[in-house]
Amino acid sequence: MHKVTLIPGDGIGPEITEAARQVIEATGVNIQWEIVEAGAEMIPRYGKPLPDHVLDSIRRNKVALKGPVTTPVGQGFRSVNVTLRQELDLYANLRPARTIPNIPSRYQGVDLLVVRENTEDLYAGVEHRVGKDAAESIKIITREASERIARFAFETARRQGRKKVTAVHKANIMKLTDGLFLESVRSVAEHYPQIAYEEVIVDAMCMKLVQEPENYDVLVLPNLYGDIVSDLCAGLVGGLGVAPGANIGLECAVFEAVHGSAPQIAGQNLANPLAIILSGVMMLRHLGENKYAAMIEDAVNGVLEEGKELTADLGGTATTRSMTEEIIKRIYENR
Ligand code: NAD
Repeated sequence: MHKVTLIPGDGIGPEITEAARQVIEATGVNIQWEIVEAGAEMIPRYGKPLPDHVLDSIRRNKVALKGPVTTPVGQGFRSVNVTLRQELDLYANLRPARTIPNIPSRYQGVDLLVVRENTEDLYAGVEHRVGKDAAESIKIITREASERIARFAFETARRQGRKKVTAVHKANIMKLTDGLFLESVRSVAEHYPQIAYEEVIVDAMCMKLVQEPENYDVLVLPNLYGDIVSDLCAGLVGGLGVAPGANIGLECAVFEAVHGSAPQIAGQNLANPLAIILSGVMMLRHLGENKYAAMIEDAVNGVLEEGKELTADLGGTATTRSMTEEIIKRIYENR
């Protein structure tokens, strides 16, 4: 039996995490959920949006499935998501972007793995105002974190039988910070002669990904470029509604969709649950439950192939619940 922490989040979070929980349970896998809440609504009770017992629960269970949590823009509390990644040292953010059969998309044959450094860079949150009319943010890059994410990228590439790792940077301008990132990735690449290695400047990378995404395999990036480029990659294969993700550390792993809390459609039964369901599939594989992961993938592919129960972002008229029920029905049929 696995114990897993479940964080519903806010916005569309509670609807889609509930969908994912039901789909995972339908497979029959033996999981006991520990449900804990995070987000702005926790502040009056605990004085912070990420209460200590949430972190304790993940530390205890080692694995969590998490819904999106809203972050106020330009003011207010620090992002729960960023704090969680830093507190638990979830140093690798893994975001696969693969052509999904039967999802309309401009591209075919895309199979990218975005590996984003998750703990430093401009996300370190070291920023301050300089007088009334200026502000500074400090970009932190260390050899330790850069080598660690590079090793993660090359090890994942090796395990998955992938052919190439591309380091993405802007070292022509940020010579010291991105320069150190590149130096670190290069030193790791030397230990993997069987995997091709190249370096591409981030702006050019965006253009090349839009023109010929099939030319790329594993991308390794510092935090900020990784955030932006992984949304771009999600857009190549059907959008945020189908893009899963994982935050992985030495001790713990937190699985969550790439998308945010989508407040415009929250509580309306409109959100696409697939991104979090597919994050659940990644979680099951992480737990070694490959059989149950495959059951969900088959059911999802069946629903996509039939094309009847698709949410609005995929061009259909289904609701969160009707799509979820169709996936569950198929899991039961094949059990
Ligand atoms: P978003 O991902 O919430 O939404 C972007 C667009 O995609 C919107 O049009 C939204 O309606 C649509 N969308 C997203 N998920 C969808 C789904 N499952 N089904 C259908 N449509 C979907 O990005 P945003 O609007 O920039 O952010 C909203 C809030 O979420 C912000 O407070 C942000 O900080 C937070 N956020 C949280 C996380 C996280 O918890 N990991 C990640 C990203 C953003």
